Amino acid sequence: MIDGHIHSPYCPHGTSDTLESYVEQAIKSGYTSMTFTEHAPLPPSFNDPVPTRDSGMNPRLLEAYINDVSKVKKIYESDIEVKVGLEVDYISGFDEETKHFLNQYGRFLDDSILSVHFLPIKNNWYCIDYSSSVYKEAIAASGNINNLYQLYFDTLVQSVSADLGVYKPDRIGHMTLIKKFQQLYEPPAEWEQMATFFLDCAKEGSMTLDYNGAGINKEHCKEAYPPTNIARKASAKGIPLIYGSDAHNSFAITQGYHALDPSIIR
Ligand SMILES: [Zn+2]
Ligand SMILES: [Zn+2]
Repeated sequence: MIDGHIHSPYCPHGTSDTLESYVEQAIKSGYTSMTFTEHAPLPPSFNDPVPTRDSGMNPRLLEAYINDVSKVKKIYESDIEVKVGLEVDYISGFDEETKHFLNQYGRFLDDSILSVHFLPIKNNWYCIDYSSSVYKEAIAASGNINNLYQLYFDTLVQSVSADLGVYKPDRIGHMTLIKKFQQLYEPPAEWEQMATFFLDCAKEGSMTLDYNGAGINKEHCKEAYPPTNIARKASAKGIPLIYGSDAHNSFAITQGYHALDPSIIR
């Protein structure tokens, strides 16, 4: 069992659970491989729109993070493969800064994820998974929910074709994060078409997918990112799906796994 999406004590909105506690829990759960994918520092000129301003890791701690995960990797190497990684934000228009960052640190990373959390609407940035009230504001600013979904999937498509250099992550994070509040705000009828079009682009760009179990535990989502029908379509197209717990505490290792289709997980 592989888990390609795990946070750490370096997550400013996570918990202080130690790296070792995640690894011990992973070994207990029968993992053979795990990747720590802490939220990379945001581009220096990007203003984090969330009130707590804690979406990305403190840039001053990045080297300590890489060193600490590398140490844990060595310590546990006979029991489990531990990979050093980051969850890098794809922020539309910040490609150059992101590329610069990856050129600087990419060589220290074994495995990483590219995710979309932020969308520009009119003159503001919205973190779409931050809260249902921010999500509601994003719908209002977009005009309607269809526009918001379209912008999200357009941005995902952009992330696949973006030139982020040789260290660009090859896995797209939680591709249906826009559905996090779907039980409060019903997805537009066209969402599946948008998702399917994105899958074709992902295939074309040789990307893999984070098959993320975190949404199952979110009270207004209750499904994986992506849900089973889309995950199966991805698999049928030959796109590899890598399970991601998206754990922000050590007990969330394996979260949502029980609800996924195990036959299509790499
Ligand atoms: Zn997080
Ligand atoms: Zn994420």
